Amino acid sequence: MRIPSAAPTRLGDDEAAAVRAAVERVIADGPWILGPEVESFEADFAAYTGLPHAVGVGNGTDALAVAMSALGLAPGAGVLVAADEGGYAATAARLVGLVPVVMDVARSGVVDVATASAAHRPGVEAVVVTHLHGDAVPLAELDAWRRRHGLALVEDCAQAHGLRIGGRHVGTTGDAATFSFYPTKNLGAVGDAGLVGFSDTSVAERARALRQYGWTDERFRPDLPSGRNTRLDPLQAAVLSARLPHLDARNLRRRELARRWRDALAGSAVLWGDPETTVAHHAVAVTDDRDGLAAHLSARGIDTAVHYPHLVGEMPGLSAEGAPTPVAASLARRILSVPCFPELTDDEADRVGAALQDWTPRG
Ligand SMILES: *Cc1c(COP(=O)(O)O)cnc(C)c1O
Repeated sequence: MRIPSAAPTRLGDDEAAAVRAAVERVIADGPWILGPEVESFEADFAAYTGLPHAVGVGNGTDALAVAMSALGLAPGAGVLVAADEGGYAATAARLVGLVPVVMDVARSGVVDVATASAAHRPGVEAVVVTHLHGDAVPLAELDAWRRRHGLALVEDCAQAHGLRIGGRHVGTTGDAATFSFYPTKNLGAVGDAGLVGFSDTSVAERARALRQYGWTDERFRPDLPSGRNTRLDPLQAAVLSARLPHLDARNLRRRELARRWRDALAGSAVLWGDPETTVAHHAVAVTDDRDGLAAHLSARGIDTAVHYPHLVGEMPGLSAEGAPTPVAASLARRILSVPCFPELTDDEADRVGAALQDWTPRG
């Protein structure tokens, strides 16, 4: 049997019964739009992360779009996005009439104050930082920098549920935090789902209106521009409430797998991220012989993936602005995601570990 690079439908025995019960409950009791299941997941997730306000939406891309609209940026304003963020923040910016401006990344693979400063230009009103692969950007420094420049800060936490830095959850530093619960994420739904968190009460209220046609006080009357329909589905909310209590344990399992891969690759490739804090959404090997490693693993029945093969500045549909991003371009040719999900069996983990251990890069 091949080992897949992700396996979201492999629910662990500990979670499967609770997930099925949650779905049955919503079907039997309703309501099927918004209502107590959505409110209770929002409250649970806010309590878990320490976010003052949580607004459930349809997916992680809409979470970014709703966040940007709710923050009230000027039409046509620039939004700084990382060149290697996968295109999600840039897509959301375009959806709400904003202009993505790409930042290169540091050699660590994430943006920092130097790369953000280099990309900053007149007309930019916000910066989106993406906590990529389960690791945080240098948040304290970036937060101080953006405050000096009067920029809004959106933290894209779609790959970093449960990630804490100095005891504090990512997402609680910026003006908005966005989450996707796409099935492969660290906290996954059984379909599309997302959430956006805020510290400011009135911004959160705007987001609540924006996710439902822009209605504020009255039904059937959009009051805000950029309203849309992107409510969190109560079926998904109930599933997420059932799975949230397992998130920390599942993240520990991811971190433990990433540690094994790091040790197994020592001397032949670097593994992305901080071994102490990572929630290892992806386990990304960085090597000049990426294609060699992919072929070696594939020959041993192990699937891999590249997150992400394309830079935001090269995505035809987004027409992002900004200077070339050579560091991100070089990294995009050297990264390979190795299977790293909590439901990997012990046998599969042994196979992946052994295969990584007996790989030697060419050249
Ligand atoms: C998955 C992901 C998104 C988009 O989430 P969807 O729910 O698929 O819309 C946004 N940002 C990042 C970093 C992601 O990994």
